[in-house]
Amino acid sequence: MENMKKECQVLVVGSGVAGTIAAVSAARKGAHTILIEKNNFPGGTAVTGLHCFICGLYVNDTNMPKGPINKGIVREIISQLKVLSPEKKVMRMGRVYILPYSRQDLVSVFRSLIKNEKQHLEVLYNTQAVSVRTEQSTIAAVRVRGQKGVFDIVPRAVIDCSGHGVIIQLSGAKHQVSDSKQRQLAGYTFRVKGLKDRDNMAAVKVPYYLAQAYAEKKIPLYLKFTTFIPIDNTDEGLCKISIPPARNSIQLAKKDAVVVHGYLCKVLPLFKDSYISDTSSEVLEREGSRLCGEYTLSANDIINARKFPDGALKSAWPIELWNQKKGPQYCYINPGDYYEIPARCLKSQEISNLFCAGRCISVSQEALGSTRVMGTCMSLGEQAGCEAVKLKSKN
Ligand SMILES: Cc1cc2nc3c(=O)[nH]c(=O)nc-3n(C[C@H](O)[C@H](O)[C@H](O)COP(=O)(O)OP(=O)(O)OC[C@H]3O[C@@H](n4cnc5c(N)ncnc54)[C@H](O)[C@@H]3O)c2cc1C
Repeated sequence: MENMKKECQVLVVGSGVAGTIAAVSAARKGAHTILIEKNNFPGGTAVTGLHCFICGLYVNDTNMPKGPINKGIVREIISQLKVLSPEKKVMRMGRVYILPYSRQDLVSVFRSLIKNEKQHLEVLYNTQAVSVRTEQSTIAAVRVRGQKGVFDIVPRAVIDCSGHGVIIQLSGAKHQVSDSKQRQLAGYTFRVKGLKDRDNMAAVKVPYYLAQAYAEKKIPLYLKFTTFIPIDNTDEGLCKISIPPARNSIQLAKKDAVVVHGYLCKVLPLFKDSYISDTSSEVLEREGSRLCGEYTLSANDIINARKFPDGALKSAWPIELWNQKKGPQYCYINPGDYYEIPARCLKSQEISNLFCAGRCISVSQEALGSTRVMGTCMSLGEQAGCEAVKLKSKN
């Protein structure tokens, strides 16, 4: 198997929301595309993270949005989700609009998008990129480990959609990683069942009681930033706890979840008979390696709703920073306005055939606080797919 080699025009690494759409987008343009994913399903964090809202799909104004901010495959995804769960409708949360979704629905929509492109798109699940060979500032081959062993994929273009920027790192492309003291808090979600008389105040009561617990030195600062989201059935909710870099391990996250849940059971009658029914399967990083691309989007570009001649897509999501000392900090764009992300943010400065989409694009740490949400990552994937195919026609 070690000697086996597969060739393709576009290799997409990671089948999260960005990678799945990137691969579908490239395949629709007729490029022979391979999508590799280390899990055995598409969706990435959108599935493993127990999320329930897609953010970044709409402009935030006083009126309900008429449609999504970006055109393209994202609109197909929204329509297909609507068919599967018509009761899940766009809703306003604070100053933004979000789309509730079920993880099973998203996986089935992604599987059907992939299936429709079977002529040009080959998907290899349980397959992980392990090393990269570069020649003259070009990725010549990506070595992968799959169920049948190790082999090389020889692509014309590569799109890194691995979230943490694995190809960016392995290829030695210039990139940025935030210092651990400055890095945003990661997250870990647990689902609670058996809640009694859940009301709309639960989302306010949980942080209130945890702030008191911190003041009384019963829990560490980072657990004070726990949020509670009521979901589907009236006896269920999601608790999202925050994880500082020094405690980034699934074992420690599980322990923290038990501490938070145990405390809430003691002080809130709502939680008294509840139990943890599910957890995210990993600690969810907000930050990883970010490409140094031909352009790096800044917080000022976002706050000033900057438009670019090569603006590839739009976003109106606020900058949402999970500060280790202060918890979540928000900075909003003016209502009704949006900013653009230039296609240059998806292209490596020096590796000629490296593109990226999703969490690892070329943005500053602050700007990532806005661009990392799923709605934006999906459209980034579509644009990266188009850009990677263009490279093919140039050569
Ligand atoms: C705590 C937390 C809460 C959030 N809540 C929300 C929310 O409510 N709504 C929202 O819209 N966004 C939310 N986000 C943001 C959002 O979930 C992610 O930023 C987004 O899903 C990232 O998508 P992606 O495709 O870039 O990466 P990912 O979803 O991380 O996908 C990357 C994929 O690459 C695969 N992969 C990694 N390495 C390799 C390799 N070497 N070889 C092969 N495959 C590999 C992974 O298995 C994964 O499937 C949240 C983020 C966090 C951390």
